[in-house]
Amino acid sequence: MEIRSVGVVGAGQMGNGIAHVFALAGFEVLMTDISQEALDNAVALIEKNIDRQVSRGKVSAEDKAAAMARISTTLKLADLGKTDLVIEAATERETVKQAIFEDLLPHLKPTTILTSNTSSISITRLASRTDRPEKFMGFHFMNPVPVMQLVELIRGIATDEPTYRTMLGVVERLGKTAASAEDFPAFIVNRILMPMINEAVYTLYEGVGSVKSIDESLKLGANHPMGPLELADFIGLDTCLAIMNVLHDGLADTKYRPCPLLTKYVEAGWLGRKTRRGFYDYRGDVPVPTR
Ligand code: NAD
Repeated sequence: MEIRSVGVVGAGQMGNGIAHVFALAGFEVLMTDISQEALDNAVALIEKNIDRQVSRGKVSAEDKAAAMARISTTLKLADLGKTDLVIEAATERETVKQAIFEDLLPHLKPTTILTSNTSSISITRLASRTDRPEKFMGFHFMNPVPVMQLVELIRGIATDEPTYRTMLGVVERLGKTAASAEDFPAFIVNRILMPMINEAVYTLYEGVGSVKSIDESLKLGANHPMGPLELADFIGLDTCLAIMNVLHDGLADTKYRPCPLLTKYVEAGWLGRKTRRGFYDYRGDVPVPTR
């Protein structure tokens, strides 16, 4: 099936990046949110981010204008019923996502494919509450969406082959690379990345190294572009903790036990860059390690 139009639910950090890449790739994009302010901010941010690509010579001014013209917004979720593909990128709460799909169902074309950008919620469970579990997939973009090359495609237990093939084609049109993952907690990237970050926090907790020596070790010794603690601050320590809890609960293995020091940072409200303090303090001119 050919996908021409996409509906994006949630105009936050991920939703605006998703709308950005789809519009540039030539899809008609209809974005919705519960807040008009979020929609206005998202459109302004997309324009600013595409402008940056224009100034770097990666996108032409004509392509920018065409992409911006392909993006429209609505506060009515039902309007997304006419699109070929819906990408749900709303707040990471299962009740929120379930309510969105439930409200959308009566307005959908029979052929519309439903997807969720969730980082951790079971795709099979979300799909089972819709009228089309065979046309439902996990569509997991990485942050920031316009920059990161990978997209994880997650098949629920009922997802059919034509849906999967269609989604592979969509990822190709975006110029991105798909990794296919089965529907188990945290999929592929976070299943591997988060335990590494958690282990870095244990290494700090046990006094094996300082923030600086741990990050430098992985950058210079393992050729990672960013140290694990620096990366944790970038992702958000609350998000890291939530994903560790999903792994711990979902796989019931003590190797996924979140480090008590990670929990303590989250309890302190030191969530990383977004709160200007995490494993580093970002309130001055240069980031200063907090331990
Ligand atoms: P965010 O908080 O920046 O944005 C969420 C948006 O959803 C907000 O604008 C909010 O107003 C809107 N929203 C809430 N309820 C809604 C509803 N009923 N209808 C329409 N809009 C609604 O969150 P985010 O970081 O963009 O995350 C969105 C999704 O993407 C989550 O499922 C998250 O797990 C996933 N994700 C996030 C990242 C990341 O690094 N932030 C990476 C991959 C996937």
